[in-house]
Amino acid sequence: MAAATASLRHVRSCAVGVRRASDGASVQLHDGHELTADAVVVATGLRAAGHARAPPALARSPFFVADPWAPGALDVVRRDAAGPGDVLLVGTGLTMVDVVLSLTRPGARPDRRVLAVSRTGELPATHADELQLAAIPDVGDWGDTLASLRESVAEHVARVRAAGGDWRPALDGLRFRASELWQRLSEEDRASFPASDAGDWNRVRHRMPPSSAAVLRSLKGVDRLRQRAASVVEASPLGEGGLRVTLSDGSAHDVGWVVNCTGPALDVRLLGHPLIDDLLSARGGVSLAQAATAGMGFRTRDGRLLDSTGRADAPVWTLGALRRGELWETTAVPEIRSQALALAVGVLDSIAPLPRRLEDGRLVSGHHPVARPRDPLGLPLSATAEAASRYNAGSEKVMRLQSGGEDLLREAAALDPDFALAHAALAMLGHEAGASTDVAASLQAARRAVLKRGDERERSLVDVIGRRVDERATRGPRR
Ligand SMILES: Cc1cc2nc3c(=O)[nH]c(=O)nc-3n(C[C@H](O)[C@H](O)[C@H](O)COP(=O)(O)OP(=O)(O)OC[C@H]3O[C@@H](n4cnc5c(N)ncnc54)[C@H](O)[C@@H]3O)c2cc1C
Repeated sequence: MAAATASLRHVRSCAVGVRRASDGASVQLHDGHELTADAVVVATGLRAAGHARAPPALARSPFFVADPWAPGALDVVRRDAAGPGDVLLVGTGLTMVDVVLSLTRPGARPDRRVLAVSRTGELPATHADELQLAAIPDVGDWGDTLASLRESVAEHVARVRAAGGDWRPALDGLRFRASELWQRLSEEDRASFPASDAGDWNRVRHRMPPSSAAVLRSLKGVDRLRQRAASVVEASPLGEGGLRVTLSDGSAHDVGWVVNCTGPALDVRLLGHPLIDDLLSARGGVSLAQAATAGMGFRTRDGRLLDSTGRADAPVWTLGALRRGELWETTAVPEIRSQALALAVGVLDSIAPLPRRLEDGRLVSGHHPVARPRDPLGLPLSATAEAASRYNAGSEKVMRLQSGGEDLLREAAALDPDFALAHAALAMLGHEAGASTDVAASLQAARRAVLKRGDERERSLVDVIGRRVDERATRGPRR
């Protein structure tokens, strides 16, 4: 749909900086080139796996896979037939599940066994076999502290389980409220959440498919997968390759490899990501971005970066993982998808504004395709938001043969005199349903308005209505 008005250019390069310009911004690339833009969206995700807690001897070891998501990172582990067959995975979340499946798939060396450790040693919960409707709670009286939220969540889960026999719909429903609840918390509560509650939340919120759970069960059944609550306290190299690791429970294990499965590093200040570092570094005493709670991304106003003075006037936006500090649940595709839509509207609204009424009553035009208001079928309307909402309400009343529709359409046309479809609807109502409108004047206003600010669909609609009115006028009224 946007193909007629938008184009996409993919530049294969690494962005290392952003600068404000008088009419937008520029993006510095690592090869010295520069791209200019009206607006910049920083959508880098947070790929860097965090391993800050690995003992130095482990972090330095060539037998430590720090980032299992890096292309080909696990190939060397899969191919290795010389060192000990056992592999230690640090972390027991969904990354661990993926790594286990990858290291034990058909063709893996037969003596391959996997030991997975984490703070709790618990595996992610499993999705239900059947899709279930989410039970979205009313969180109005859930309070604004972690302690009160824990209590309310437990009650919600118990209620849903008692009603339907399963806790999962309760968790799935919470996903719709997570950002709202998160934003109620104090900075202290948000900062403590990763250590105090995130493990439990992630275990039940980020679940594995039943098919993966079945594979893990069968591996455990033949002792090829074990898990325990522990952390690595020491690691030393083995003569034949691999490592002897000592765990916090006192046990020692000779393993061929240790794979870090602890997920992305959360503190953007420590990633060493050139673009993020640049956004956080001050120029002229001000940085384009400021770190959110505990460094979990940036502070924004609805996705637009707040600079270090708290202003959101640079044309730079972000979404996804870089908003974790202010939304928490922000890394999965459904959340990113709805952020992307809101962000697109925000960007367009800023650089190509909607038609809107200024304080002095004047209307300023705007015609960008995405940020326009929509009718109930989702089709864009070339009108101010307030006029469009009267038009939608009026059209609905007309469709339902209820009274008051005509007045609402009249209000829509008065609020935005260049709203062609409102005039056209009035012409149609007067012509077809005997409404007390001046059909000729409304049609003339519609034709004038659609030339000023109509899209192709609106032009064709006004054209059809005009022909219909003209045709009847020529033929005379139908008996
Ligand atoms: C192993 C794994 C499995 C996952 N599985 C799921 C899942 O099943 N379902 C789900 O909903 N979510 C899943 N996620 C969450 C994941 O975060 C989202 O699915 C999604 O990929 C995030 O999209 P994004 O565009 O924000 O970031 P990414 O997909 O990470 O894309 C960021 C892009 O920015 C580029 N980039 C970064 N820095 C620069 C720079 N300086 N210059 C130029 N380009 C740059 C990167 O190369 C990359 O192309 C998973 C995440 C991981 C790590």
